[in-house]
Amino acid sequence: MASQGESKWVYSFGAGVTEGRADMRNLLGGKGANLAEMANLGLPVPPGFTITTELCTYYYANGRQYPPELKSQVDSAIVRLEEVMGARFGDAANPLLVSVRSGARASMPGMMDTVLNLGLNDATAQGLAKRSGDARFAYDSYRRFIQMYSNVVLNVEHHHFEEILDDHKRRGGFKLDTDLSADDWQAVIEEYKRAVERTLGTPFPQDVQEQVWGAIGAVFGSWMNQRAITYRRLHDIPASWGTAVNVQCMVFGNMGNDCATGVAFTRNPSTGENAFYGEYLVNAQGEDVVAGIRTPQHLTIAGKLANKSDLPSMEEVMPEVFQQLDEVRLQLEKHYRDMQDIEFTVQQGKLYMLQTRNGKRTAPAALKIAVDFAAEGLITQEEAVQRIDPASLDQLLHPTLDPKAERKIIAKGLPASPGAASGKVCFTADEAEALAAKGESVILCRVETSPEDIHGMHAAAGIITSRGGMTSHAAVVARGMGRACVCGAGDLRIDAKGKTISVMGYEIREGDVVTIDGSTGEVMLGEVPTVQPELSGDFATLMGWADKIRRMKIRTNAETPLDARTARKFGAEGIGLSRTEHMFFDPDRITSVREMILAENEAGRRAALAKLEPFQKQDFVELFTIMAGLPVTIRLLDPPLHEFLPHSEKDMAEVAKSLGTDLLHVQHRAAQLHEQNPMLGHRGCRLGISYPEIYEMQARAIFAAVAEVAKTTGQAVTPEVMVPLIVTKKEFDILKAVIDKAAQQVKDSTGQDFDYMVGTMIELPRACLKAAEIAETAEFFSFGTNDLTQTILGLSRDDAGSFLPEYQRQGILEQDPFQSLDQEGVGELVAIAAERGRSVRPDIKLGICGEHGGDPASISFCEKVGLDYVSCSPYRVPIARLAAAQAALSADTVKRD
Ligand code: PEP
Ligand code: MG
Repeated sequence: MASQGESKWVYSFGAGVTEGRADMRNLLGGKGANLAEMANLGLPVPPGFTITTELCTYYYANGRQYPPELKSQVDSAIVRLEEVMGARFGDAANPLLVSVRSGARASMPGMMDTVLNLGLNDATAQGLAKRSGDARFAYDSYRRFIQMYSNVVLNVEHHHFEEILDDHKRRGGFKLDTDLSADDWQAVIEEYKRAVERTLGTPFPQDVQEQVWGAIGAVFGSWMNQRAITYRRLHDIPASWGTAVNVQCMVFGNMGNDCATGVAFTRNPSTGENAFYGEYLVNAQGEDVVAGIRTPQHLTIAGKLANKSDLPSMEEVMPEVFQQLDEVRLQLEKHYRDMQDIEFTVQQGKLYMLQTRNGKRTAPAALKIAVDFAAEGLITQEEAVQRIDPASLDQLLHPTLDPKAERKIIAKGLPASPGAASGKVCFTADEAEALAAKGESVILCRVETSPEDIHGMHAAAGIITSRGGMTSHAAVVARGMGRACVCGAGDLRIDAKGKTISVMGYEIREGDVVTIDGSTGEVMLGEVPTVQPELSGDFATLMGWADKIRRMKIRTNAETPLDARTARKFGAEGIGLSRTEHMFFDPDRITSVREMILAENEAGRRAALAKLEPFQKQDFVELFTIMAGLPVTIRLLDPPLHEFLPHSEKDMAEVAKSLGTDLLHVQHRAAQLHEQNPMLGHRGCRLGISYPEIYEMQARAIFAAVAEVAKTTGQAVTPEVMVPLIVTKKEFDILKAVIDKAAQQVKDSTGQDFDYMVGTMIELPRACLKAAEIAETAEFFSFGTNDLTQTILGLSRDDAGSFLPEYQRQGILEQDPFQSLDQEGVGELVAIAAERGRSVRPDIKLGICGEHGGDPASISFCEKVGLDYVSCSPYRVPIARLAAAQAALSADTVKRD
């Protein structure tokens, strides 16, 4: 314990004294805080203590030194353990054994180090053998300890030990580790110790104090190992958080057949089904289950039957302990109000809880669990909405295998992480990363994965392993990353060295294409076609709740009927941006477009535009019909004209021919139109100013379509006509007059009346600053944050990718500002423009239509500045609906605070 005035670095838990709580995870790490919480709940937690994350920070800030008072605090915590356990650390007659494990604030599965059975040496192992009456168990524990400690703390590679054990097994004719007797293990131990001494030049440490400080140092040291650094980078975990160290009394799952160890989820982490879901092994220690070395057995009878396993379930083998565990499951869910991922050990028929934490889950499981928890009254609908990561919906919106498609199934493993993926077979994480960087879809195939493989798993579209269960490293990590994964496909003979997989007489080589279905566990040859997902059930329920909560409307960026229909299916409430230039690129029209550009004068342009007008009108008729009265914003032509011209001489010659002119003429006109900085050039409303007949034609087509839809379907449409790239009110007013005139013409010629709005993109810094003036005549603003980002940061939209990653790596920019809004810079100008626009026109309609409209963090910003809607690509509409609801909920919290 800490004396007065000293910093407190050590917090004890269990056996009556518990100094921590679940809400102290920043200080105690997730594992430490939850062990303390479980002890507080009266659950059977082996006693122990946690050294805080602040100590880790101190350690790195002080040249890897501990504060002087740490030693006495750790000593007193160990003395307490000795007292409550009635055993002594290092006592040959009755030794206390502990585990030493890391535990950061955010869970980092398998990234850092663990040492079990610490406190064993030649003398205590003998003592343990005598006391337990089980010499085999004692020496099995000791050999595990030597291997783990030597590997984690002393950096002796595993293979030294594996070779010794394999050799011993071969000589003794043993198949399984459990076949070895106490004498065998003692012989193995002697060889292990010799191997350590040979490798390091010093003997394996017998002093238990040296052991415990070595292990503590190794855990703190592992915070900065390469695996942990990579994991933190991928998961945005700051290095400054540090890890805690948990020292806990050992309980043994390997003391005989009334012992077991297991890992479980309180609900199914793949589907979310409310069923206890886990794996266990009789007579084993924790690492045996997760390492995938032995095939784990199912916890429940239902799990066993569903997976067609022959091995008995825990429910059958240890019915009473199982019952107790099932009660703990319900108690933990009620208490934490979330699905838990737990670890337990049974020692001689007695249950011990070693860990609980919120369980990682797939996107469909997250949805089902959130919806079910709300229905069960454990959480509110608002909490359910806040629980889902909007970005994870991507997984649900992506295709699954077409059930009608032919499949050549070559193997079946466990459905470890859902989703379908096709790609080229790769055998190492590095190769997977390299191939994916070239834009290839990759399936990473491994016998089993380890934390060293995470970069390759991240780069891959899917992962296959031939060994390991649903809680193996591959399964857990793939689910967390949202990668499709099939685990334990034992029929596949994966030869990583020879780079082949043999199965059923086939030989699959590196680069061959396979498909996996992570929801069924099937592995197939070649690429299998996919289908779009059905968005019903839990998805629809949760989206319904989100829709009730959110304030902002969600629109879509769409110009084709397919996009518009898809977006409506996903719940879009209108079109926020229809880029008409995309309609000009259509192969049917490009010739007329080129004719217009090549025209020498207005009359020539008008003649070409007249040919385009019916097409344009038809486009708008279709969009208005699909959107059935929802608002539709149509943006007048934006890109530089030369984009429409052919580039190669061959293409130019073709155009010249079809236009009845010569190549020289086309080349000359292309040269005339060429610009050094087209993004800052003759585009947007500047085209409308130079050639008003273009916008006139487009406006007329829009209004004629409005009139036609009203007449044929009876549906009133109020189009929002949008002018791009405005920097002055004058530009806007000139073009608004063109649009108003076209509206009047259509009204006169059709005899029909209709409403419409004319507004502008705000996508240049000057427009933000002059927003008050512009709002005098503009009825709405739509923030074009793509161009705003480009012009405010002075970054080319098209080229910044070449150096932005370096800016992110150095922490100069946290994120790519084209993906997530630069809230401090671009955001401030958006806020200024919104405020100035409203000061003149209080009911001005405000929206955003840059790519940021589909990014959750940017959507939260839009809520803060009070925009009326966000507009994003069709597939992001559900993400935006959810993100807007979450933004409204946190805005509410801010207001209440
Ligand atoms: C923008 O600039 O944000 C925008 C939506 O327009 P575009 O991407 O077409 O330039
Ligand atoms: Mg733009």
